[in-house]
Amino acid sequence: MPRDPECLFCRIIAGEIPSKKVYEDAEVFAFEDIRPQAPVHLLIVPKEHIPTVADVPAGWPVMGRLVETANRLAKEKELIFGYRVVINCRADAGQEVFHLHLHLLGGRKFSWPPG
Ligand code: 5GP
Ligand code: ZN
Repeated sequence: MPRDPECLFCRIIAGEIPSKKVYEDAEVFAFEDIRPQAPVHLLIVPKEHIPTVADVPAGWPVMGRLVETANRLAKEKELIFGYRVVINCRADAGQEVFHLHLHLLGGRKFSWPPG
């Protein structure tokens, strides 16, 4: 899907809205969450505008690249005791920004099940 000029994360990727970038390549962009819920809280997003995980096409190779990036950043942040990778989908899951993103959370213990 093309870039959505109204989309917050499309605008962050384009540099129109500042962010604390931690990684970028041709397909993937990663930055610090503005309201961190853990000592490490990064957002990993595709450059392509995909609204939710439910919109991910079958076999879409960028999905694997997003997971790979989360794992590499977790290693760089030395989250040796573990970490959580979260994708919220639509209202019941609390999705606020409708541009697909993985949350990488770490540096503390998390409870299960989530609230
Ligand atoms: P969601 O609830 O959609 O899964 O997560 C959206 C995340 O984006 C939230 O954790 C929120 O703190 C973060 N966020 C919202 N607006 C901004 C922003 O302008 N900059 C950054 N870096 N993060 C944002
Ligand atoms: Zn977008």
